[in-house]
Amino acid sequence: MHSIKSLTLDELAGRFADLGEPAYRARQVIEWLYRKRVGRFGEMTNLPAALREKLSAEFDEQPLEVACRTGSDDTTRKFLFRLRDGQMVETVLIPASPALYGEASDRRTICISSQVGCAYGCKFCASGLDGWKRNLDAGEIVDQFLRVEGESGERINNIVFMGMGEPLANYDHLLRAIGILNAPWGAGVGARHITVSTSGLVPRIRDLADQPLSIRLAISLHGATDEVRDRIMPVNKRYPLAELLEACRYFRGRKKQKLTFEFILIKGVNDSLAQAGELGRITTRLDAKVNVIPYNTVEGLSWERPSERVQDAFMEELRRGGAVATIRREKGHDIAAACGQLRLRTLADETAETGGSTRGSEKPVAADAGVN
Ligand code: SAH
Ligand code: SF4
Repeated sequence: MHSIKSLTLDELAGRFADLGEPAYRARQVIEWLYRKRVGRFGEMTNLPAALREKLSAEFDEQPLEVACRTGSDDTTRKFLFRLRDGQMVETVLIPASPALYGEASDRRTICISSQVGCAYGCKFCASGLDGWKRNLDAGEIVDQFLRVEGESGERINNIVFMGMGEPLANYDHLLRAIGILNAPWGAGVGARHITVSTSGLVPRIRDLADQPLSIRLAISLHGATDEVRDRIMPVNKRYPLAELLEACRYFRGRKKQKLTFEFILIKGVNDSLAQAGELGRITTRLDAKVNVIPYNTVEGLSWERPSERVQDAFMEELRRGGAVATIRREKGHDIAAACGQLRLRTLADETAETGGSTRGSEKPVAADAGVN
């Protein structure tokens, strides 16, 4: 059964025609879903009862169930969602102030997951620790937005695909979901307020440049040379730096808007002045900007963040050649990073409850959540 939130207005109208229903009924349903934010067919009171029943039989109305939430109003809030097959993904709501891209604004940003697990296996990341499970469908992506708005009572005006998974490895579902999130009849979030982050899938970066929406692109660089990137990001063997930067240049040429490089600073790996200098050159050449993020430690991995002194020296060297760079040290620093960690912990606890885990000593998430 498909989620109704995977369909565009036109597609829904087509499905309604097949069911012998007039097109205005499709518009009514879309209005319930995206204007009135009512997801249950049973509550769509201007639809005839017979139609509501037909719809319930035809479509999955609630693809996501809140398994757990953490955080409070003025902090980062995390939602762990259980999908219809029992898999779990995390979604994060970032409050107004720690603007991801350095502008003071009233943005409320949602960090959305695109896959369960991740196949790319970056050595520093929690999302790939357990391997790749499956792609999310468009309805599951869209519903993260709707459910987080519903649960938090806040309007979200900025979307980043920096949760679990590699969004460009789930390209068709991703673009379908973005289309719905962007549509005036849908969530209505402007394309310039939607950012896709990738570890560097070169052919898909070009595809993204060729499609019509002006969405933003962030590249998880994390190394300014092949030597460093090869060490921590297996994807670099497939698409080495020169190819990646060429695809970035192509994107930049087509979209006329700045790219963002993400660079997590890992002690002894990519925090040298030589890396800072090279990163600065790459950034200015592409007229991009850089977000430097001190590494957020992950349970089970031994990487560490460098000292503030090393971070400062890195930033100074990076900016020396004129690169536009920000460092994210505030409480929100672990936002993107921690996507994936809540899920792993909860999975471990659940396995512990059924007697199978070696990680049963970890604290249950619901206990540190303090809500629900
Ligand atoms: N797969 C995509 C999007 C999800 S990851 C990508 O890699 O771009 C979102 C961001 O969080 C990426 O830049 C990723 O490298 C970063 N990240 C992962 N683990 C982290 C950690 N432990 N500390 C800080 N950032 C981390
Ligand atoms: Fe996957 Fe991105 Fe994590 Fe790499 S950093 S393992 S691509 S989620």
